[in-house]
Amino acid sequence: MDGAVALVTGASRGIGAATARRLAGEGAAVALVARRRDHLRRLAEDITRRDGRARVVEADITEPEQAYQAVQETREKLGRLDILVNNAGVMLLGTALHTTIEEWDRMVSLNVSALLHVTHAAVPHLIDAAATSPRQVADIVNVSSTAGRVARPSSSVYNLTKFGLNGFTEALRQELLVERVRVSVVGPGTVQTELLDHLGEAARTAALRQVGGIEPLQAADIADAIGYIVTRERRVAVNEMLVRPGDQT
Ligand code: NDP
Repeated sequence: MDGAVALVTGASRGIGAATARRLAGEGAAVALVARRRDHLRRLAEDITRRDGRARVVEADITEPEQAYQAVQETREKLGRLDILVNNAGVMLLGTALHTTIEEWDRMVSLNVSALLHVTHAAVPHLIDAAATSPRQVADIVNVSSTAGRVARPSSSVYNLTKFGLNGFTEALRQELLVERVRVSVVGPGTVQTELLDHLGEAARTAALRQVGGIEPLQAADIADAIGYIVTRERRVAVNEMLVRPGDQT
């Protein structure tokens, strides 16, 4: 992937950080997008130490202007944009009766609206990259979830965002294939990250009870799936990957 440029949202931790490392290891220059600059800086230093290229792009992508600027900065400072990984997301579990409307808004704002703003800003650059790169292809990879296929109590709005993301991905895939921009979705099962740390004590305990006894995936397992998708030759389009822990039903 030498010469390619990737932008990863939610790159400061978890699946996003692992994906950034993976793509940098493949030779891509990576724009690291998230809010926590200190985490991003440490990751960028680590990538650079391993002879990779990374740029810190501090942004709260739920702010439309910052989402747009994150894409523009990547294009201007790294020269192009070949791969967009829409990874940033939040899962706030709870029943309709006990969840606040602010929690529902937070999920829609990050998992849906922010993703749309970043994608909309990125599409022209991805089309340009596909037309001009030696690989003749560009990629969008959306990180959904098994919650995009299976609905559960306490997960209604998280389900809404991830079921919706799957539909958005499929429509966009059909729109952009003539432009040689592949659009894929990866649906992880349980992955050991900070995702559950955003929950209150009761919801966290309930979530842990649901997945108790399962050895979770590591973030690097999902980074592997994303790395596989974007390193395929142009003739191969991996539309969807569902990756669960071996023990998860
Ligand atoms: P983490 O909570 O570990 O990481 C979330 C990332 O998103 C962080 O880097 C965070 O960085 C970033 N982020 C949060 N809010 C914003 C914002 N407003 N603007 C920019 N970046 C933001 O979660 P995971 O790595 O687990 O989750 C990544 C994706 O994987 C999500 O879409 C999630 O739904 C999905 N997923 C996760 C599963 C799991 O079991 N962990 C299972 C299935 C899907 P910062 O706080 O610095 O902004």
